[in-house]
Amino acid sequence: LGPTLCIGEILVEIVATMPGEGFRNALPLIGPFPSGAPAIFIDQCGRIGGQAAMIGAVGRDDFGQVNIDRLVRDGVDVSGIAIDPDYPTGSAFVRYREDGSRDFVFNIERSAAARFGWTPAVAALAARAGHLHVMGSALSISGAWEVIRQVLAQVKARGGTLSLDPNLRKELTQDVETRERFLWLVGQADLLLPSGEELEDAAGVAGEEAALAALFARGIKEIVLKRGEAGASCFLSDGRRIDAPSFVVDAVDPTGAGDCFGGAYLTCRRLGQPVESALDYGCAAGARNATLRGPMEGAGTREELDAFIATTQRRAS
Ligand code: ADP
Repeated sequence: LGPTLCIGEILVEIVATMPGEGFRNALPLIGPFPSGAPAIFIDQCGRIGGQAAMIGAVGRDDFGQVNIDRLVRDGVDVSGIAIDPDYPTGSAFVRYREDGSRDFVFNIERSAAARFGWTPAVAALAARAGHLHVMGSALSISGAWEVIRQVLAQVKARGGTLSLDPNLRKELTQDVETRERFLWLVGQADLLLPSGEELEDAAGVAGEEAALAALFARGIKEIVLKRGEAGASCFLSDGRRIDAPSFVVDAVDPTGAGDCFGGAYLTCRRLGQPVESALDYGCAAGARNATLRGPMEGAGTREELDAFIATTQRRAS
């Protein structure tokens, strides 16, 4: 089988507890929480019982240790995480507006998070991985692309697979090069995990049906559309569609819901579970994670998610 690898930014996150515009008067803040979309995704993979490994970098500081400790606790192989002696661990500040939308301040490019490359440890992981997951956010950071490309070539050569979550962030660069990288990866992906407008954006076509058709024509086999409180839908290249309702929760912090959904869904699929059951765990992982402040504080073990599913009401569709 070979582990699932994720490559990208590892951050600490500081969260404003009061909603408002921008970051003026944002106190009190809470954190640091382990974060970075790729790190959240891989943490959920490990926590639910999948073989998982992370490639990225942190600084030689406490913020880096916060991340490494969490990933190790949740069973993630951290041998591919470099410790940068010169740059600090990357960070993200998040504040919610009254309407539920978010503002981020990222410190990625001038931090350890963007400064990693090919090392013997990375090569060892690339030589045995069975699956690569890429978050679109990682495509705008300088160190990641060469590593992603080389790991993907090796994984694909062994018959392994690629999943891609567009994870578009308005605060991160969307220059021509990043866009080209993203569109190239769409053509390599086996599983796509978009939310909202990312589906049509990835396809470059307007309308859900036309977008799905265009993406299947490019070779994608499975598309899982995340719909927040409305749950999720899986579209298969053979024409099947499977819808899953979300769970009713008191969502206090939606950051990381999509990453936990993806980590749980992908791991269940790689462990051989059918789409219906993988969607259930994905929706449970996303919803559970939204109930706690901090981007990966609610990532669930198999037992925690089973208990959550057994005791939480599903939203009527
Ligand atoms: P993303 O963060 O990538 O935009 P979503 O917000 O759609 O992804 O969240 C992923 C999944 O997590 C959803 O499909 C849903 O099952 C679950 N989820 C997210 N937010 C909520 C919420 N407020 N209530 C219940 N479930 C949620």
